[in-house]
Amino acid sequence: GSGIDATFVRRWLDLATTALDREADRLTELDSPIGDADHGSNMRRGFIAARTAVEQEPPETPGGVLVLVGRTLISTVGGASGPLYGTLLRKAGKELGEAETVGADRLRDALRAGVGGVAQLGGAAAGDKTMLDALLPALDALTGALDAGGSAAEVLASAASAAEEGAEATTPLRARKGRASYLGERSIGHQDPGATSAALLIGALAEAAGA
Ligand code: ADP
Ligand code: MG
Ligand code: MG
Repeated sequence: GSGIDATFVRRWLDLATTALDREADRLTELDSPIGDADHGSNMRRGFIAARTAVEQEPPETPGGVLVLVGRTLISTVGGASGPLYGTLLRKAGKELGEAETVGADRLRDALRAGVGGVAQLGGAAAGDKTMLDALLPALDALTGALDAGGSAAEVLASAASAAEEGAEATTPLRARKGRASYLGERSIGHQDPGATSAALLIGALAEAAGA
């Protein structure tokens, strides 16, 4: 079936943690020319802590798992990305409420709520060269694929490709938010680390669905 339950979200968490661990050096390298060279270690530390927290006291609902991951990121990751990703996942989890199983449409609503939280907290918009440049295209693609009647695996696969393309498309942009914005014009020509990690997280979602 296409049901998204706590087990599905835990599978996503495992896959996301594995991907972030594997790509940590690359994320940190992306954060060197336009940041402070810590994005990979920030994300790896936060997700390993989140996985441990979920293993120690596994929540029974998909929303509960997401809220716990979000909270753990906020408490273990300093810097911009901890509170922003923490908000993304907490808001997404809260949107799912107490439901034990949801469909891809509720997941879309959850992603929308989470992305809205990121935009509100960080004040960034599309094109500002942030994680939103991967998250917003993912949300749009997810919505489009759902409207076209795709299966959960299909809609998540289109969200993943859109996020990946969105991350790559940050290279020519000038950063307007976060640390990279201090560089002004010199932020042009580098892919945004946060958009890159966001694409990994959405990619793990597609993987969890067997896409
Ligand atoms: P820090 O910049 O504090 O060292 P990280 O390196 O972990 O934090 O994360 C940097 C990433 O956070 C950026 O690449 C960008 O995608 C994201 N980011 C920074 N500020 C914002 C913001 N205001 N809104 C959305 N995303 C942001
Ligand atoms: Mg950094
Ligand atoms: Mg930092």
